[in-house]
Amino acid sequence: MPNILITTFGATWQIVPELLGFANPGLVDLYALHPAADRIREARARAGICPVEELWLITTKGKTTDEAVLKVREWQGLLGRKPQPEIRVWQANNVQDLVSEAECRLMAECIYRLVLHASERVKRGQLIVSLTGGRKTMSSDIQNAAVAFGCHALVHVIQNERHRRSLLGLSPDDFTRPLPADLRDAVTPVVTGSYRTSPVVDEVADGPLQGAAYPVPFSEACDPLEINVKRPELVLEVQRRQDNAGFLYCNYTNRLMHEEADANFLALYSLPPAVIRDLKARRLGMDPQREEAELAWIRKLPKTELHCHLGGVADARELVEIAAANRRAMAPYGDRLAPWLDRWRKRLDRGQGLPIRFKNLRKAVPGVPEPFCVAAFVLLFEDRPEFLDEVVFGPYLDASAFCGIGFKPYEALGDLQGSGLLQSEESLRAACRVLMRRAALHNIRCIEVRCSPVNYTRGGLDPFQVAQIIHEELTGRQHCTCSIIFTASRHHNMARVRQHICLARSLMAGDGPGFPNLAGFDLAGNETAGSAARMRKAFMPMMEKCMHFTIHAGEIQDVGSIWEAVYHLSAERIGHGLTLRDNPGLLERFRDRSIALEMCPSSNFQIVGFRDNYLPASQGRPLYPLKEYLDQGLRVTVNTDNPGISRTDFSRELHRAARLTPGGLSIWDLLLLIRNGYKSGFCKRPVRTKLLREAESEILELIQGALP
Ligand SMILES: [Zn+2]
Repeated sequence: MPNILITTFGATWQIVPELLGFANPGLVDLYALHPAADRIREARARAGICPVEELWLITTKGKTTDEAVLKVREWQGLLGRKPQPEIRVWQANNVQDLVSEAECRLMAECIYRLVLHASERVKRGQLIVSLTGGRKTMSSDIQNAAVAFGCHALVHVIQNERHRRSLLGLSPDDFTRPLPADLRDAVTPVVTGSYRTSPVVDEVADGPLQGAAYPVPFSEACDPLEINVKRPELVLEVQRRQDNAGFLYCNYTNRLMHEEADANFLALYSLPPAVIRDLKARRLGMDPQREEAELAWIRKLPKTELHCHLGGVADARELVEIAAANRRAMAPYGDRLAPWLDRWRKRLDRGQGLPIRFKNLRKAVPGVPEPFCVAAFVLLFEDRPEFLDEVVFGPYLDASAFCGIGFKPYEALGDLQGSGLLQSEESLRAACRVLMRRAALHNIRCIEVRCSPVNYTRGGLDPFQVAQIIHEELTGRQHCTCSIIFTASRHHNMARVRQHICLARSLMAGDGPGFPNLAGFDLAGNETAGSAARMRKAFMPMMEKCMHFTIHAGEIQDVGSIWEAVYHLSAERIGHGLTLRDNPGLLERFRDRSIALEMCPSSNFQIVGFRDNYLPASQGRPLYPLKEYLDQGLRVTVNTDNPGISRTDFSRELHRAARLTPGGLSIWDLLLLIRNGYKSGFCKRPVRTKLLREAESEILELIQGALP
């Protein structure tokens, strides 16, 4: 892969030392005395020009050019033993004086062909194209060829008219050393630009233009070669492609879309082909060393979050923050709590009685309302939240051990939050603030928060009040559209499910304080405890109000639970859906109806267990189906489920999706997952469209910056 400098060439043989004096100053430092010698050096460095190993001269046939070539050879002979570039010469047959249009066309063809061949020969080396030398039409042709086939740098040597005659009078020997002081600024080399290969002559057309189809003579010996062309075929083909550029781009974009199971953000398809290739080639989630950089980039992307339980958002530090919000309200119970807390302090210091059944803390001290016992217990860790982490997670602090532990043990990790802690106005407001702070930190533009108001009434609030408090905390956020989804748990008694349905219905009917952001209803919890089929009748009143439904299914249960959710409860989205692949017919129906899957990689890994690129201990686990679903055109979204319990966040989950995919996910895949989130939101269509468009614009801008 030699570096090649290609130039047209006429009677003025001096352009050869003038060009090489710029590109290869080690050979002859022609501009050493030039008043702008520093700037010339800088220009070479800025353009990253390396010494050339081959100089290609394209010239006409005739006595004057023959003589000029002889002068070049003479100059070469005088340079001595210094390593020199090979100088190759092509003379266009049938072209002498470039006086007719036909001659000009044939010359252009020779120039185009040689630039195309040179661009193929350099491979990863540099192609430098010179505008100096020969007639003006030749300069124009070589520039057009450079635009079409690309070049590392376009260079030109500017003549100082005052010194023109004196310069022509110099001998080949005078050009073996710096130009003399009186002619030091007679010529000045400049870099005028650089070009990438034009996509219309390359990939967006019927296929890249290849030199083999437009032959030129070539031999390793450096004798002048005659080049014979009869018609300007290559020139016409380039012209044809440039004239049809608009249609070629359209065909290309069309092909690209047809190759895909589901369309990405539409604006991405109008990106330059090289950028699209790059977005599809860069893979994330493969190399732990690159994790921080990858996460930092994902954090900047405008994202959605469609499956997040308010009762599972907090990490240890945030649990302390939520508990502390109750401090004033629990003060009157201080005396009653004190002896109990003292006993706990001692037990914890001795490491006794671990692990703890946190559910038993809720009513531990008679006469103290919920959630003050839990809050007081959490505040024992106020100065050492990392110890609370140890107490709650124990062996699961090791990510390899926190794999496939099953639903109940996972759920128990959240017993200090959820309905353990969210039983007071202060707790509820603090939990919402924690969630929204996290959303802002990770650039979440649309969030659907799941909560179960009926479960948060043991501290004296009624379900309406709970709903109102959450509504107040979540609405009116500047950079994030929030909606609420009520979640009824299957494993609670049917009466509790009905209470949630009743609450949803009345809020929708306007009986309550006005609740425009109630977007949907969800059935969650242990799938084994209650089937969707049994719930249909109870759901009917909400169906009559056209409520959106998303149902937890296919997480730990077989694909039958997903089928029931779709056919009995008309679910528009399914939480998890890990077993969907077991029923190809149902999978097809998901694709046809655009039913979305809310996948939650960390939670899925922790409850069910899948292979993770970073964790060798997980290699015997099954493959996570996310990429398979994505490739089949399913509307897959990525969400956190319970970021506090799963020890994750909104950016990390997208990254975790990549980690759980063999070979990682490409940036293109990640963007598709994000787009699916916007498409699947339960907010009203105009809002959804607006959010999608804003995200699309921001993503386009981000892509123009540095990629991970
Ligand atoms: Zn969930």
